[in-house]
Amino acid sequence: ESVPVITIDGPSGAGKGTVARIVAEQLGWHLLDSGAIYRVLAVAAQHHNIGVDDEDSLLPIAAHLDVQFQVCDEGEGKVILEGEDVTNTIRTEDVGALASKVAAFPRVREALLRRQRAFRIAPGLVADGRDMGTIVFTRAQVKVFLTASAEERARRRFKQLNEKGFDVKIGRLLDEIRLRDERDQSRKVAPLVPAEGALIIDSTELSIDEVVSKILSFSNERL
Ligand code: C5P
Repeated sequence: ESVPVITIDGPSGAGKGTVARIVAEQLGWHLLDSGAIYRVLAVAAQHHNIGVDDEDSLLPIAAHLDVQFQVCDEGEGKVILEGEDVTNTIRTEDVGALASKVAAFPRVREALLRRQRAFRIAPGLVADGRDMGTIVFTRAQVKVFLTASAEERARRRFKQLNEKGFDVKIGRLLDEIRLRDERDQSRKVAPLVPAEGALIIDSTELSIDEVVSKILSFSNERL
């Protein structure tokens, strides 16, 4: 419990992933990309021919998810599902949409709680997602809610996917982002809302470095 945690929650494309990774690197702390867990679960469901609408069948898959997050010095570590490298697979928009469907089931979320909390290891953890500060690490010392306009998030996502060689349309990305926001905000369980006491950062007009330094100085005050 006393191991310090910085939670960074917010909608997709707000820059949480990049920012969380840099903050973790600078502090020398562990990193939890909770969205990756939901994405991996969606891919695992596909592997096992289970529909993402079938909560009962998703449960045992969630409970026994055989996933490894390999740490590496620079950039994103590899994600291995049942021995298979799914690092790139889980980053597609299609998998993101499926992930947001499996994530809407309360019992699925419940089944993944312990796995997420196990990332809280000394000297500290930076956890990014939707409910890190509200549900998973309610007593985190530092909570951040990172957001940006939907248009800006679509532009960033476009650039990111383009660089990885995915052929995407920005209009379609914007539609998908709005749809996913709507689903994440309106779901009954763990809706996307800022945690009490969270520092709210709108990154629409901020650089990554500016966001990182806001978070670091906020946590300096609190840790
Ligand atoms: O953050 P990312 O886009 O990788 O997350 C994929 C989906 O997983 C989100 O749209 C959201 O529905 C779900 N998610 C969640 N809770 C988290 C992280 C992700 O419900 N803590």
